Amino acid sequence: MQNIIFIFSLIFLIISIYLVYSFVFKTKKANPEILKKPFPENFRKILEQRVLYYRNLSPERKKEFEERVKQFIADKKITGVDTEITDTDKVLVAASAIIPMFAFPYYKYPNVKEVLLYPHSFDEKFQTSDQVAGKNVLGMVGDGFMNGSVVLSRPDLEKAFDGSRHRENVGIHEFIHLIDKADGATDGIPEILFDHSYVLPWLKEIKKEMAKIKTGKSDIRPYALTNNAEFLAVVSEYFFDNPEKMKSRHPELYNDMVKIFNQDPEKYV
Ligand SMILES: [Zn+2]
Repeated sequence: MQNIIFIFSLIFLIISIYLVYSFVFKTKKANPEILKKPFPENFRKILEQRVLYYRNLSPERKKEFEERVKQFIADKKITGVDTEITDTDKVLVAASAIIPMFAFPYYKYPNVKEVLLYPHSFDEKFQTSDQVAGKNVLGMVGDGFMNGSVVLSRPDLEKAFDGSRHRENVGIHEFIHLIDKADGATDGIPEILFDHSYVLPWLKEIKKEMAKIKTGKSDIRPYALTNNAEFLAVVSEYFFDNPEKMKSRHPELYNDMVKIFNQDPEKYV
């Protein structure tokens, strides 16, 4: 009998320690002191020089964006792997997260605890040494023991935000996967953003556009053909990075994206 009481007490103790630990871990801010200060002038300069999306916002919306950058940096750990983290890194990671969810100010990526920046691209096992063949992954959402983390190649993040327009943006790409994953399935249907009634038309649109990519009739990166989740991530990069071009080349798809993200970035141009 005493043994049973002992085992139950032990289980109770372990559960309590786990609950206290997870509560502290979830509520602890990674960088709380930033919230007490005004938005740093050098952060603003980085946004102005590198993030076209921000540069095209109205002054009021810029303020809102800056607050969200501060909050993101306060909440999430941004860590360099074999590299020192700079202010540019922090601002660009935060911008990648905020841009797709700018219309949803209360969304704070509960499924992200840490963003890891690598000094190069890496392979799927996070190896970056020169001996590793095929190290060409630019970003990844962690799974298994890496759950809760996002991994990005710093040079590719910097290239994505170099103040010019392209169709690729590794930061936005990975945060789109996280938004997609928030409903439990990374399947190209970000249910936290849209109603069930919209699932079928969206799947139809994916199929239609994929057929065009396959026959070379689309300027969307062929990587979008990998699966529906990659399709969503790839077209979202295009949507936020070069809205004018995407709207003129893919008006229907563009309208779908406006509905999904509840914003029209072309209006900021
Ligand atoms: Zn991807």
